[in-house]
Amino acid sequence: MSLTTREWHFARRPAGLPAPETYRLVERELPALRPGQCLVRNLVLSVDPYMRSRMDDVPSYVPPFQLGEALTGGAVGEVIETRSDEVPLGSWLVHQAGWREHAVVDAAAGRVVDKGRYPSSYHLGVLGGPGFAAFAGLFRSAGFQPGDSVFVSGAAGAVGSMVGQFASLAGATRVVGSAGSAEKVRYLVDELGYDAAFNYKDGPVLDQLRSAFPDGFDVFFDNVGSDHLAAAVEVLNESGRVAMCGTISTYNSAEHDAVPVNAFKIVAKRLRLQGFIAFDHEDLREEFGAQVESWLETGRLTYRETASQGIEAVPEALAGMLTGANIGKAIIRLADDPL
Ligand code: NDP
Repeated sequence: MSLTTREWHFARRPAGLPAPETYRLVERELPALRPGQCLVRNLVLSVDPYMRSRMDDVPSYVPPFQLGEALTGGAVGEVIETRSDEVPLGSWLVHQAGWREHAVVDAAAGRVVDKGRYPSSYHLGVLGGPGFAAFAGLFRSAGFQPGDSVFVSGAAGAVGSMVGQFASLAGATRVVGSAGSAEKVRYLVDELGYDAAFNYKDGPVLDQLRSAFPDGFDVFFDNVGSDHLAAAVEVLNESGRVAMCGTISTYNSAEHDAVPVNAFKIVAKRLRLQGFIAFDHEDLREEFGAQVESWLETGRLTYRETASQGIEAVPEALAGMLTGANIGKAIIRLADDPL
């Protein structure tokens, strides 16, 4: 089948927040399938902070995007043509050839998921990368134990909204989150069941964190870095643990983490700070799926998305997510789920 599609290319490296000139929407004809490949019509695209990091020309755990090339990202597509026995026609494939309407994907680089059991977008959120990062970070990197008290930064986003709920469901004594608006603070407490929450824009994080935990806390799940990490080091209890998931406060800035952390407190309190990347913990994938699906099916997990519509929405959706426009997982819906 010969097909013309639209895809976003990387036109200019941004300084600060990505702007329209960062991207170019390109029409192109897709190549014929080779054995082991399939053609997907993307239903939903993921909008993730690491996409911004990949726009900087610096080495990281994923290589930088190259100028002039098509951008890539997580997506779920419906298979509309296949030359792979493992990927049947009509199935749903989770893959990394997002930022475009259709894609030719190597079957081995995708994962077929149960069609229609959950909305396709769940495989980019609660059952996808963010949910998995929340699970691996909390239970392995932070070594969460029932009875721990937990602070989550970036708590109303895709990862953070899962972390707080997972901690409560697993027996945390107190869960507190920070986020960037009054609406998000209400969402954390009223919908996600956080014990307390604060808006980090209302005053110094350190003061608000001390008020939330007058007796200290045990586990910090950090999505933000900077002032959040510095404050947490002050307030954490002895032998406290930090799962360092991300530093979103720095992604649009040339100065990485300008806020100093009191290193002596880390020593004196015997804190453990553990950076992690979710895909290093694939051995947890089965346990994660079983646990989170069971919480979903028993109605114990609340899940929200902020959806933009259509391929043209990509630049605005990414800038919006980076500046806090999303509650829960940011996605771009390209087509309704076919059932
Ligand atoms: P979110 O859904 O949380 O969206 C990003 C949010 O970051 C925004 O909504 C905004 O919320 C917040 N934010 C933006 N700028 C700032 C700032 N200066 N200070 C504080 N908060 C800010 O994204 P994800 O849940 O997908 O990702 C959260 C973090 O997890 C990121 O750091 C990401 O890089 C990391 N991550 C790490 C993985 C890993 O394997 N280690 C895997 C997946 C994600 P607000 O309104 O509250 O400011």
